Amino acid sequence: MKNKITIMEVCGTHTMNIARFGLRSLLPNSVNVISGPGCPVCVTSSSDINNALVLADMDDVIITTFGDMIRIPCDGRMLMDYKNVKVLYDPLDSIELAKNSPDKEIVFLGVGFETTTPIVASIIIRAKELGLDNFTVLCMNKVVSPALELILNDKQNNIDGFILPGHVAAITGTCYFDFITGLSGRGVISGFDPKGIMDSIEKLSLMITRKEFGVVNNYEGIVKSNGNEKAKKIVKEVFDIVDSDWRGIGVLKKSGLKISEKYSRFDAKERFSIKDRNIKDPHSCLCGEVLLGKKIPTDCMLYGKQCVPSSPVGPCMVSSEGTCSAYYKYISN
Ligand code: SF4
Repeated sequence: MKNKITIMEVCGTHTMNIARFGLRSLLPNSVNVISGPGCPVCVTSSSDINNALVLADMDDVIITTFGDMIRIPCDGRMLMDYKNVKVLYDPLDSIELAKNSPDKEIVFLGVGFETTTPIVASIIIRAKELGLDNFTVLCMNKVVSPALELILNDKQNNIDGFILPGHVAAITGTCYFDFITGLSGRGVISGFDPKGIMDSIEKLSLMITRKEFGVVNNYEGIVKSNGNEKAKKIVKEVFDIVDSDWRGIGVLKKSGLKISEKYSRFDAKERFSIKDRNIKDPHSCLCGEVLLGKKIPTDCMLYGKQCVPSSPVGPCMVSSEGTCSAYYKYISN
């Protein structure tokens, strides 16, 4: 049996809470917890950020987005440099803005995994109901399972099990993670408070030492086997699953979402004829390897020097849920 087990948590909220509450320091040396590809801002490709900047350059366009997106550098520019970029806390405010600004084109930046996607679907449906013709979404939403499959199939990875995101599972249901069992992997679906996370780590550690495969639901009050049927239905109606480019990782099959034909008039890429450009990630940034658990932030030569939260080089240092940001704030300083 191995002397040390390695557990990957797959959610930005877990990344932050494990760091913020010092949970690693409570674990025995034999348990190593690393972070995975669960921060949506961190996995957004440079090409997608460039597309948002192309839109920001257009006359009469107002970009609406969540806060972290505006600080991701791309070819020396950031969305925060633009006066026509507005940070919203509620995506529905984009609809209000479109209603109140008929002479402007409102473009919402759709980012996130299964937890956030139903919200994006619902605002697109709402825009259609209202007959808005000045509202679109630049869809960069992703599906988390192909990244986990990539990690599971990589024989060089030394990951013994996953702490799985409870909020994703609340939407998808536990059945979504059946592929993990099929690939002889293991995971525990976890809530987000420190006690819940520690309990999930203990359950997963026991599965590892007993060599048990499968997925255990440790967030039973919230997560059901089939998830939220209504949310899944609207996501299926509004989006098609397509291949998608992940920051530092590359294109993963069936890992992204595109607005379906029925709602294509709300697709910003179609409305403004945006073509993807091949934009290089920042030189020496290891975000891709950090997201796959192959490196930790301190392995990066830029960490804490050229790359700090006040002046980030890569998105893992930008996002409030990014691994590099969590390390910098709570672990290595
Ligand atoms: S420290 Fe900065 S440059 Fe290095 S991997 Fe993290 S985000 Fe990228």
